[in-house]
Amino acid sequence: MTSTAIPLPHLTGFTERAGNWYAEEVALADLAKEFGTPLYVYSKKALTEAYHAYDRACVDSKGKRRARIHYAMKANSNLAVIDCFRQLGAGFDLVSGGELARALAIGADPQSLVFAGVGKSAPEIAQALKTGVKCINVESIAELHKINRVAKEQNCRAPISLRVNPDVDAQTHPYISTGLKGNKFGIAYHEVLKTYREAALLSQIDIVGIDCHIGSQITTTAPYLDALDKVLDLVEHLKREGIVIHHLDLGGGLGISYSDETPPDITEFTNTLLNHVAERGFAHLDIVLEPGRSLVGNAGVLLTTVEYLKPGAEKNFCIVDAAMTELMRPALYEAYHSIVPIQTKAVKSATYDIVGPVCESGDWLGRDRTLAVEEGDLLAILSAGAYGFVMASNYNTRPKPAEIMVDGKDVYVIRARENVANLFASETVLPK
Ligand SMILES: *Cc1c(COP(=O)(O)O)cnc(C)c1O
Repeated sequence: MTSTAIPLPHLTGFTERAGNWYAEEVALADLAKEFGTPLYVYSKKALTEAYHAYDRACVDSKGKRRARIHYAMKANSNLAVIDCFRQLGAGFDLVSGGELARALAIGADPQSLVFAGVGKSAPEIAQALKTGVKCINVESIAELHKINRVAKEQNCRAPISLRVNPDVDAQTHPYISTGLKGNKFGIAYHEVLKTYREAALLSQIDIVGIDCHIGSQITTTAPYLDALDKVLDLVEHLKREGIVIHHLDLGGGLGISYSDETPPDITEFTNTLLNHVAERGFAHLDIVLEPGRSLVGNAGVLLTTVEYLKPGAEKNFCIVDAAMTELMRPALYEAYHSIVPIQTKAVKSATYDIVGPVCESGDWLGRDRTLAVEEGDLLAILSAGAYGFVMASNYNTRPKPAEIMVDGKDVYVIRARENVANLFASETVLPK
């Protein structure tokens, strides 16, 4: 397997011109020189175009809105990124009190917030109720009772949706599949009706919706249609029992091209789902989509510098200054990211494992890649906009990298590089 044999992902914000890579109108080499590496670089154009691709399908030919986009901010929660989406009209899908605080920090409308997650704590539930979020997506009967209790303490009502585990196989990596019986997520399909009946009896609970989210990096529409049918069956059944569902949240999970994957076109995908909802007679439902990765994944790259080339008997290593601490996806899921030199050079190519400086054998970024590089060269790890920086850690006391947003010719530092002293500034040694 060589990098030349594998196609590069489809990118809108990043291009190669005459042997040099650019983010929109800015050379990546210039950014690396000015801000150092490792460095995350995002393209505003790429995330804007991905949003528009969804939104085009969310408005019908008569101009009527038939669905809303709630960006799943866990994919990339930088304030500049989420504020771009807010300005484009997005709401947000949140999975923690911390993410709720981020949404409020950019002035998001509480009614544009949906709070999901399998283990919400009482303080997080209280925070969500106090904020007045649109909906809390409930993942268990125990959680339902906790929400009712917290709402009673606050003397308020709690708008809820039940997250259905539709038991469909999204055919994705086991760590990012969430809609199978064996997953920790959602309420088992056969228990959903019973749980709604129970919810309807609780004093502080307002049933407003139903939701599902079947996994991530899904590259076909079929599992979505399966899940959709199963959820619509429940909505129908609930209606017969007098339980009215106002919104249907289909979650996120649409995949992107990291190399040779061919996920459906975003607009076509969204049209297919929304048309299916209408064909089954549910056009009156307020539909929510929660894409994360497909809005930002290909809108970001991670720049890194080659520190050493280390030839070996079995493997050659290309040791770079980025690591699993900056981009954990390869270590966590054996994920593939295309890796390209950002300036083409006439040097001999060789096949390398691209690895970081962290003291773990799992610390690798790419395997068996053919690259023409020398020490000091710069590489771009592509498709790093989603689940990249947000999963970064300080392991090995490594400061997190800076993040840059490029908009045409303009360059913005949207997060400063961390400094080492701050990493242990809140620690103290024991008294003498
Ligand atoms: C993670 C998550 C999403 C977004 O998933 P992507 O694969 O990034 O699109 C949407 N909804 C929920 C509930 C999630 O947990």
